Amino acid sequence: MTCVTIVTGGGRGIGAATARRLAAAGHHIAIGYRRDHAAARAVLDDVHAAGARGLAVAADTTDPDQVRRLFDAAADLGELTGLVNNAGVTSPIGPFTELCLDDLRQVVDVNLIGYVLCAQEAARRMTRGGAIVNVSSAAATLGSPGEYIHYAAVKAATDTLTVGLAKELAPRGIRVNAVAPGIVRTDIHALSGVPDRPDSAAGRIPLGRAGEPDEVAGTIAFLLGPDASYTTGAVLRVAGGL
Ligand code: NAP
Repeated sequence: MTCVTIVTGGGRGIGAATARRLAAAGHHIAIGYRRDHAAARAVLDDVHAAGARGLAVAADTTDPDQVRRLFDAAADLGELTGLVNNAGVTSPIGPFTELCLDDLRQVVDVNLIGYVLCAQEAARRMTRGGAIVNVSSAAATLGSPGEYIHYAAVKAATDTLTVGLAKELAPRGIRVNAVAPGIVRTDIHALSGVPDRPDSAAGRIPLGRAGEPDEVAGTIAFLLGPDASYTTGAVLRVAGGL
């Protein structure tokens, strides 16, 4: 069976590693991203080099019209079988009392509303079954005190979304799972104002180091694939023991 998978936030970080990994495993890939055309283009070149079909679409996942445009474009690759709901943001690290409303709204908008809009669109289009993987965070159970509690709370919502959707979509042969990464070496930490976080936090990670994007991508590929055929509603922690 041909696998056609959309990876939101597929231009950089965990999403880019996932797009590359899935292409190597034979998926055709639609890469969604927001504004970094060059990064998305580089991933697309690697998808093609792996012998897969692919396309890249600039689509803000918080906008239903742009989400629809991404899914319409992906339909050119064939019937949709997979979604990696990955496009996410944090906000500046700091005490809860200093969280500003714009940052809160942005985190809810991208990490929750964006995931819901993409999952809805996928569920409507996966008429012959499929698999969705939501990229959550270990923060969902750690709470991220002093850093970004609001982000942790929204990632906990991702876990609940995963459990509910898994049950609702199971009769249609659509599996829904989540991965919960710990601290992974991507550019997301620069947005939080702590670009060196993967190294500075290593001492409190039981495995003694940050994760690499490809180590999360492998778990996502597993959850999308046939070895996970009886796995749905799971939140799989990929956090080095955190
Ligand atoms: P990243 O390196 O900052 O990449 C984020 C990707 O998401 C980029 O491709 C970006 O597009 C895209 N994006 C952001 N906002 C978007 C929007 N509104 N619409 C469409 N695309 C959007 O992030 P990452 O570290 O790989 O994180 C990926 C996911 O893993 C997120 O859900 C994050 O919360 C989760 N996570 C990360 C870590 C970690 O330590 N890195 C830990 C736990 C969970 P542009 O390139 O165009 O900006």
